[in-house]
Amino acid sequence: MSLDTVPKDLRSLRACLLCSLVKTMDQFEFDGCENCEDFLHMKNNRDAVYECTSANFEGLIAMMSPEDSWVAKWQRIERMVKGCYAVSVTGSLPPSIVRELRAKGRVYNSRDVSERT
Ligand SMILES: [Zn+2]
Repeated sequence: MSLDTVPKDLRSLRACLLCSLVKTMDQFEFDGCENCEDFLHMKNNRDAVYECTSANFEGLIAMMSPEDSWVAKWQRIERMVKGCYAVSVTGSLPPSIVRELRAKGRVYNSRDVSERT
C-alpha cells in the first residue's frame, strides 16, 4: 500500500496547524496539506509551510478509515484524508490566515490541547 499522505521519513516531521495531519516538511512543500490546501496554500511555498505547520506536536494517530472511527470524531478529523494525525499540535496559525479562514466560513480551533489542561 502506498499513500502520499503518510509520512515518508521520520525526521523533519511537521503537523498541520489546522487539521493536525502529520507529514514531512518536503511533503507539505510538494503537495500542500490534502485537507487544507484551499485555505493554507502551502504547495510550493516553504514559507507558508513554516507558518501553517508545527514541528512541535504530541501523539500520533494512524487514521485509515476516518469515516467510522470514534477517535476521528473525537479529533474532529472524520471528514479528512487517511493519514497520520497528531493528537496535539503546539502553536497557532498567523492572524492573517485565521482572518482568511473566517472570511471563508471555516472556523479555526486550535489543535493545541496541552494548553487547556
Ligand atoms: Zn491541514
